[in-house]
Amino acid sequence: MHKSIFRKKFDQYFLKDKNIAKKIVKNLSFLNYDTVVEIGPGLGILTQYLLKHHQNQVFLIEIDRELISFLRNKFSISKNRIIHKDFLKWSPEEIHLQNFAIIGNFPYSISSQILFHILKYNQYIPECIGMFQKEVAKRIASHEGKKNYGILSVLVQTFYEVKYLFTVNPQVFFPIPNVKSAVLSLRKKNEILSCNKDLLFKCVKTAFNQRRKKLKNSLQLFNHIPNFYKIPFLNKRAEELSVQEFLQLTKEIEIRR
Ligand code: SAH
Repeated sequence: MHKSIFRKKFDQYFLKDKNIAKKIVKNLSFLNYDTVVEIGPGLGILTQYLLKHHQNQVFLIEIDRELISFLRNKFSISKNRIIHKDFLKWSPEEIHLQNFAIIGNFPYSISSQILFHILKYNQYIPECIGMFQKEVAKRIASHEGKKNYGILSVLVQTFYEVKYLFTVNPQVFFPIPNVKSAVLSLRKKNEILSCNKDLLFKCVKTAFNQRRKKLKNSLQLFNHIPNFYKIPFLNKRAEELSVQEFLQLTKEIEIRR
């Protein structure tokens, strides 16, 4: 299809380079899963490589109705695997999926929300290969002590081993975006979460809201709990705390509540 109107509101930047598309798909490990959900397939450049080997296990979720009819014509997979939906409103339970990987050249303006949605269902999602705006990718892969270390770095790395795979230039997209892109691999960690998940999210978000303040100040929200000031790390700042330390901190708050 020659798509003449690119929908800004859906953040459409279509990848033109087939070698990059192939390279992205090749990074799926298929370790311990055989189903793949693609977010925002667009004109199907990643999809065509996915379908080559995994015809029966691919689901597509696309928000643009026009692209849905295009994809249903182009690919001979069952129509109910090409899902017309906003990914942020989709739940794997709708189609009884319990173990699948996610792949996509993500719409950049909602990539953080996409990650939070993945984290919500992390118990079902052993792997994710995704294209992000380069800066966002760097942030997700960042570590304590670095300027760009933040909420997403801690929360994504709590559940996933993050690998920065490669940078992608704007020229390989149509239309050309004004930012660079990068592909990340997220692979589920084996450890079981040692603290309450909701409380962890709350601690991390609250701590980074005032990232330069010491935790004893930024976490005042919890100052009513018994022996609050005995909690370790309170003299550190959010940006200095490792993922492991955030888990310990959360556990300390949890056992005192
Ligand atoms: N994968 C394609 C398209 C990437 S552009 C390629 O690499 O060329 C991003 C795609 O995400 C577009 O197809 C856009 O319509 C779709 N999209 C945007 N917001 C979405 C949402 N909330 N849920 C699902 N798809 C979305």
